[in-house]
Amino acid sequence: MSLAFPVPVKHAIVAPPMVEEVLSPDERTALKTRIKALMKQQDAVLVAHYYTHADLQDLAEETGGCVSDSLEMARFAHAHPAKTLIVAGVKFMGETSKILNPEKRVLMPDLGADCSLDLACPADEFAAFCDAHPDRLSVVYANTSAAVKARADWVVTSGIAVKIVKYLHRQGHKLLWAPDRHLGAYVQRITGADMLLWQGSCVVHEAFKAEGLKKLRAEHPAAAVLVHPESPAAVIAQADVVGSTTQLIEAVKTLPNTEFIVATDNGIFHKMRAAAPGKILLEAPTAGEGATCQSCAHCPWMAMNGLKNLAHVLETGDNEIHIDEAIRAKARLSIQRMLDFAAAEKAGRIQLGD
Ligand code: SF4
Repeated sequence: MSLAFPVPVKHAIVAPPMVEEVLSPDERTALKTRIKALMKQQDAVLVAHYYTHADLQDLAEETGGCVSDSLEMARFAHAHPAKTLIVAGVKFMGETSKILNPEKRVLMPDLGADCSLDLACPADEFAAFCDAHPDRLSVVYANTSAAVKARADWVVTSGIAVKIVKYLHRQGHKLLWAPDRHLGAYVQRITGADMLLWQGSCVVHEAFKAEGLKKLRAEHPAAAVLVHPESPAAVIAQADVVGSTTQLIEAVKTLPNTEFIVATDNGIFHKMRAAAPGKILLEAPTAGEGATCQSCAHCPWMAMNGLKNLAHVLETGDNEIHIDEAIRAKARLSIQRMLDFAAAEKAGRIQLGD
C-alpha cells in the first residue's frame, strides 16, 4: 500500500486505564511457588523490564533470570540456554526476543501490553516514509513492531542511539528516525546528524513537566536530576545525567549525591533502591498547571504484567509470540547490526571520540 504523505502524521494514542495487580502476602507467596515449579518443569527463564512490578523483578532474579533494559533483555535471552523465554514487559520486547531466538518458545503475561511508540508507527506508514526518502538510511528505536524493524536499516536502543547515529553521520549518511520525536531530537542535538523525525512519543516521558521540575530542583538544590531522553527537550535541558534506564541506575550508584530527581517510569525505583540503599529518590513532576498526563510516571502497559497472568500463561501455553518468518529474518538483520556495533565498540574496533 502506498501512502501519499512524505512527513509522518502525529497519532493521538490513548493509554489504557492503569490496572496494577495487588496481592496479599499469602497470595504472592503461593503464586511465586507455583510459577517457580512450572518454570522448572518447562525449562523457562524470566526476563523482566525495570518498569515492571517489583514482584516480577524479584522473581526474575530469584530464578536466575534478568531484570534489565530492552537491549540487555534481548542479549540475555539470546545467550541463555532455556527452551522457553518469558518476557515481562511490552510486546515489542517479546517480539525482539523471538526475532533473536526463533527456536525458542517466547511467552508474555499479556499480549495487550503495548507501547505508545509502537502504536504510533504503523508499518505501512513507516514504509511510505522510507519510500518518500530513498536517499536516507532508516534508524528505528527498539520500541517498534517486528514489521517496522524489518523495513529499517538499523535498530537502536536509548543506550546506544547517540553512538550509532554519530557513526552513521560521520560516514556521511542522512537519516530517517522513528518513532520517538523527543529521543530523535535529543540525538540530533548531540550528533548534529541530518535526521527527519517521526512524530511518536512515550505517554510516560512526554508527561514530565519542565516548570514543575524547575520548582522541585529549587526545593532540593543538592539533588542530581536524572532524565530519560524520551522526555521533552525542556526537561532534558535540566538534567545532570541523560541516559537509558541502565545508565540512570548506574548514576544513582556512582554519583556522590544523596538525593535524586528521576524523570522516567517509577518502576525503576525498585532497582535503584536495591543498587543504592539509603539514597533518596524523588519522582520528577508530571502534575501541576497544564498537566495532561495519562500515565503519571508509570506505564499502564507495563503494569499489565503480573504474577497471576504469568502463572496462567505457564499453565496454558497462551500468549506465545509468533512472527512471520520473512519479517523475522529481515528484522534480525537490523537488530544484528546494532548488536555487532555494540560488540565492536566495546572491543575498541570502532573509535567515536568526542
Ligand atoms: S514507558 Fe513509554 S516507551 Fe516504555 S513501554 Fe511504556 S509507553 Fe512505551
